[in-house]
Amino acid sequence: MAGPPIVTRVPLVTLMQRFVRLATFAWVMALAGLASAAPSVVGVRMGDQGEATRLVLDLTESVRYAVSVLDGPYRVVIDLPVVEWALSPADEARKLGPIERFRYGRFDATTSRLVLDLAGPVEIARTFVLPPESGARYRLVVDLKPVGAAAFAANRAATAKPAPVPQVVARPPPPARFDKPVIVLDPGHGGVDPGTIGATGSREKDITLAMARELRQTLEATGRYRVVLTRELDVFIPLQRRVGIAREVGAALFLSLHADSVGQPSISGASIYTLSEQASDKEAELLAAKENRADLIGGLDLADQTNDVAAILISLAQRETMNLSATFASMLVPEFAKDWHLVRNTHRFAGFAVLKAPDVPSVLVELGYLSNPNDERSLRAPAGRKPVIDAVTRAVNRYFDLHPV
Ligand code: ZN
Repeated sequence: MAGPPIVTRVPLVTLMQRFVRLATFAWVMALAGLASAAPSVVGVRMGDQGEATRLVLDLTESVRYAVSVLDGPYRVVIDLPVVEWALSPADEARKLGPIERFRYGRFDATTSRLVLDLAGPVEIARTFVLPPESGARYRLVVDLKPVGAAAFAANRAATAKPAPVPQVVARPPPPARFDKPVIVLDPGHGGVDPGTIGATGSREKDITLAMARELRQTLEATGRYRVVLTRELDVFIPLQRRVGIAREVGAALFLSLHADSVGQPSISGASIYTLSEQASDKEAELLAAKENRADLIGGLDLADQTNDVAAILISLAQRETMNLSATFASMLVPEFAKDWHLVRNTHRFAGFAVLKAPDVPSVLVELGYLSNPNDERSLRAPAGRKPVIDAVTRAVNRYFDLHPV
């Protein structure tokens, strides 16, 4: 079993791909300055080792790492210190054996994370770091072997450490005074979880963050509100934590921003969701399941907390909050109809995890479809986002005119 290092036998990328990767690497190093550069991941490779599937990360430095497995769905999580990611599209398209795809990004203040989505249960047969040989790269090697579900469960119970509790770097300080209503804007997804990817490659997590920043500026310019963002950076924040931020700052309104995509490029327009224990239709339910998957993608298991939240849901306070949420949604619909466009039956009800603060009126907006070329073009540019921002601002003003805090 203890064969010689087999990395060189991993089926090699073509010379062209190697050149692109090397060029990217050189560019990153030049940009960052050699002295101050963070370690970079400059390649991801996979190889068939007979019984095992080998994953190799090419790194500019030797780094500490932790590898663990999760189920429901089956995943392998590799935690690294904060690194730069300099991967080519060819790297990102790789899949082999049980590895169906992988995601990567910043996880919290001190951790970058790579998550492998698996076709079935595996065990981590070996992990080690190889020093550079001819090139300038260290290689982190992880060997995965398929195992049965029972062996996986026993393995996990015996060896797995609990997933690290994410530290929130993007958490803003609470406002100094509460002389104005606080609005919390929640840019959907981030870090290891890009959200949906548009027809021309734009990422939901970037669009929602840009939108939230611009919306904050417009709302604060009215002089009527304080605005807090759940994340200021491209970082992963668990859904539960986003709700926590809204409660800690005493938010009077919580607005979660997302963008969707579907197989049919002709479908376009915004949809607006408020919480219900029962989804208003199958489509809304599927979307909620998709958005709620964010925590699974980030490698967290939140089953317990979700039960707590479900219990709170049935309280009367929750019902009052749900009514206020629906009121705000009903004010947003006509404003979007004026300046933007909506899908049919735009106000829907579904069990989004992020809408479950029992005492904060909360609305989730799918701003449009990144699978639709017009929606994508509008949402990726500040000029295209402007009418959407103005529409939300008018609805917010109207809501607080009628429901002063
Ligand atoms: Zn989303």
